[in-house]
Amino acid sequence: MENNVKLYNTLTRKIETFIPNEDGKVGMYTCGPTVYHFAHIGNLRSYIMEDVLEKTLRFYGYDVKRVMNITDVGHLASDGDTGEDKMLKGAKREHKTVMEIAAQYTEAFKNDCAALNIKWPDYVEPATNCIDEFIHMIEVLIEKDYAYLAGGNVYFDTSKLKNYYVFSSGMESAELFEGVRDDVSVDDNKKNKNDFVLWFTKSKFEDQALKWDSPWGVGYPGWHIECSCISMKHLGEYMDIHCGGVDNIFPHHTNEIAQSESYLGHKWCNYWFHVQHLNDRSGKMSKSKGNILTVSVLKENGYDPLAYRFFCLQSHYRKPLEFSYDALDNATTGFNKLLKRIHDTDNNGEVDKAVFDEFRNKFLEAIINDINTGNALTVLYDVLKADTNGCTKRALIDEFDKVLSLDLIKKADALKDEGDTSDVNDELKAFVEGKIAERAEAKKNKDFAKADAIRDELLARGVVIKDTREGVQWQIQ
Ligand code: AMP
Ligand code: ZN
Repeated sequence: MENNVKLYNTLTRKIETFIPNEDGKVGMYTCGPTVYHFAHIGNLRSYIMEDVLEKTLRFYGYDVKRVMNITDVGHLASDGDTGEDKMLKGAKREHKTVMEIAAQYTEAFKNDCAALNIKWPDYVEPATNCIDEFIHMIEVLIEKDYAYLAGGNVYFDTSKLKNYYVFSSGMESAELFEGVRDDVSVDDNKKNKNDFVLWFTKSKFEDQALKWDSPWGVGYPGWHIECSCISMKHLGEYMDIHCGGVDNIFPHHTNEIAQSESYLGHKWCNYWFHVQHLNDRSGKMSKSKGNILTVSVLKENGYDPLAYRFFCLQSHYRKPLEFSYDALDNATTGFNKLLKRIHDTDNNGEVDKAVFDEFRNKFLEAIINDINTGNALTVLYDVLKADTNGCTKRALIDEFDKVLSLDLIKKADALKDEGDTSDVNDELKAFVEGKIAERAEAKKNKDFAKADAIRDELLARGVVIKDTREGVQWQIQ
């Protein structure tokens, strides 16, 4: 293969040619969810784009091993080691144990991933599985003098590193990074402002549910240690790609690098892949702000989760993406039109190998160029327009879908002919029927403005309704 995969590396702030540590193999790590609540569609934007990255690497021919943690202990409300324990917060909210909350939201996350065609990573490890590994790494860090005990807790000493702010361009000062934090309280035990907790024993939480014995007393781990230990457990001392949302750059990934490289004594991970945020009008979608939308909410509102995946693929992962229902409506209309065009493509002829190779290469070139999903989708539309037989087109679409994962052929084949709504997903059907009933009620009450508004609302979703003698009929535009 002459063309190499090119990725933007947050560490060097450049698009680089990707060269794995071992020929043909990629070790990839993803920061997993904190399972105290549902993942919101912002979190899932990150997981969708990381899924596309993994599938691109496989499409290129790499043998990929992907690892993800599940944060079920130690993540406090603030990244500066202060505030409430997020898991405890979830447990209190729902009057359940921390482990029940973890199991419930891990399951919910799994279902969301399935609905969005996000492949479940090869190894998924909850933090509470690896306490012995955490203790071992912390012991080594203390032995090497990178960590200290203060006020009962163990801290990483960031002043021991020449370059703690690895993601800084040098133009930005440490204060800028410090400013990222949303907490204002200061932990007096810390020797330096950005030192971070490796192990808590002097818990702020009398009712901390999960505690383990350790050489420093009964306690629980800080947040960052889990990703270093879990990745090394499965991927060894050298990792190729580490992923997460941009909010993970500081302090989480900065701290992961600090502790991992101090522990190992050498460079740990070569490429850092960060997905920009999904925002809404009020700013970054975040669990703590409460402005969250989930896959279940999208489904309740009649949206196909894969239309949301399509929406994400339309823009580049390094650009912030603004979510609105209008934008999702447009994406849904685009997605349905695409499916219709595939539906209308016959399956005649035999695969034309030359054409197949030509377009496969074009698609590959687009997607390996820093995961340019927008350009990759353009190649898909070019295939539909191409002067070749239907069989070749469908074979190419099926091939591209190994990366896009939009169930294109399956959904297109399930489409029935014009006016037949039996193919429409159950969520949309329930939504439309609910709206039609609401409209009938509005008309009965002579509230015609409301009835018209409902008709327009449905139209914006690509649903056309017709009043006939037999009752209201509807179809997808
Ligand atoms: P958390 O469950 O908070 O640990 O977050 C899980 C993943 O979602 C992390 O990789 C975060 O960086 C990422 N993330 C959080 N908020 C957003 C957002 N609004 N848009 C995209 N990714 C996000
Ligand atoms: Zn992490």
